[in-house]
Amino acid sequence: MIRPVLVLPDPVLGRACRPVEVIDGEAVALATDLVDTMRASSHSVGIAAPQLGASWRVFCMDVSGHRKARSCHGEVVLFNPVLVEAGGEVPREVGREGCMSVPDLTGDVVRAEALVVRGIGLDGEELELECDAFEARAVQHELDHLDGLLFLDRVVSPERVFRRRTYR
Ligand SMILES: [Zn+2]
Repeated sequence: MIRPVLVLPDPVLGRACRPVEVIDGEAVALATDLVDTMRASSHSVGIAAPQLGASWRVFCMDVSGHRKARSCHGEVVLFNPVLVEAGGEVPREVGREGCMSVPDLTGDVVRAEALVVRGIGLDGEELELECDAFEARAVQHELDHLDGLLFLDRVVSPERVFRRRTYR
């Protein structure tokens, strides 16, 4: 089911989310709504549960066909995602980000260029994904949502926030 996406300044977007204890029918329904809502927006590559008003640690992403993507795991749903490797020796790079919850703006954010993220998939299976480039950026953006952070909290400077020229 496609659901409305919360936008700033909705307070739910600023709250840390709780872990999903059991992947039951309700959790799967939420994940399915995330996928449907992401698919409904042609340029969305990911969405996290708080954007649908649900403070649970789950997101979905799909960077298939994106020109900046290198690694690509297709459509991914991750419950309780945890970063297992990032920072340290990993190069970091600046890139432009947007968000369905911040419809009018984009901004430049520094992110780790590669990472490994672990979590639970839609069928309850353990997943460990090695991501780089645009997919790694998408993971970090979605993980931030689960901690109540938006890309605007991480822009490199206030001058690097831009008004979108095109609208959905
Ligand atoms: Zn977002």
